[in-house]
Amino acid sequence: MQSEFKSLREIPPIDYYTAGRRTCAGCGPAIGYRLISKAAGPNTIFIGPTGCMYVANAHQFLTSPYSVPWHHTQLGGGGAAAIGIASALRTLMLKGKRKPEDINVIVMGGDGAMADIGLSGLSMGLSYDYQRLLYIVYDNEGYMNTGVQASSTTPWGATTTFTPSGKVKPLGNTRYKKNVALIAASHPNVKYVATATLWPPLDLMNKVVRALNSGGPSVIHALFPCPKGWFTSPADTVMLSKLAVETGMWVLWELIEGQFKLNYRPNPRKHVREYLSLQGRFRHLKDEDIDKMDKMIEEEWFYWNESAKQEKLIL
Ligand code: SF4
Repeated sequence: MQSEFKSLREIPPIDYYTAGRRTCAGCGPAIGYRLISKAAGPNTIFIGPTGCMYVANAHQFLTSPYSVPWHHTQLGGGGAAAIGIASALRTLMLKGKRKPEDINVIVMGGDGAMADIGLSGLSMGLSYDYQRLLYIVYDNEGYMNTGVQASSTTPWGATTTFTPSGKVKPLGNTRYKKNVALIAASHPNVKYVATATLWPPLDLMNKVVRALNSGGPSVIHALFPCPKGWFTSPADTVMLSKLAVETGMWVLWELIEGQFKLNYRPNPRKHVREYLSLQGRFRHLKDEDIDKMDKMIEEEWFYWNESAKQEKLIL
């Protein structure tokens, strides 16, 4: 069983997501994959529904950036494939056809694959009692490899090719972001649910360890910046993750067997302008739109603080 990392020095130098990939420079999901695979260790099977982490890492003959087993599924099939693999491993071990051992089954699906098209597979996986079954939603807030279309996790006010800011709809996207972690938390069998981003890296890595050791199915909803779809500098990816947390736009929390814990409370909270101003997808917003978004964040924090006080999610 993998133990938690106490400092950056304890992070193993070995990579299971290695060089040779073709993601954009500064790709948040690629950095996230590297950290997550280090935390999970070598006894891991990754399942990759179609998305950037499939397309940009697509295997050509005898090449792959993954040095552990990695299995592609179509866009909506990640959850079902994970249930099948976890079930097959358990059956083979019960029948004595495989030596009993801890094997991690991790679905790494984007917001298209986990929050939209494949949400049913994630939901079904949380209804079983398979151990070391982890669903990670790597959320770059859009369908990026197909041309930056909006998904259900695209934030309010962002411009995408499906929600372009223009004369008729100057705001761009007018829908609110779907909270996949809250949906996951409403499943009675789920053992562990958390949110994460690239900052702090140990927070992300230790949440992977806790999820895998939780004794049942688990979910991590991770915000990973995407320079292509967010129109940001590749050099800003980790800083954007940090600013998302410091402006309160992304809330770091975990639910361990029903007990809610707030991992970080920004104090003082930075104005959301600091986060938005680095991203081209929000360039069209007026000052009053940005202030409105900051007010929405402030109101949401009342909810998070109340949940922290009561140590349970107020759903
Ligand atoms: Fe990464 Fe975004 Fe490029 Fe996809 S489009 S490879 S998520 S930076």
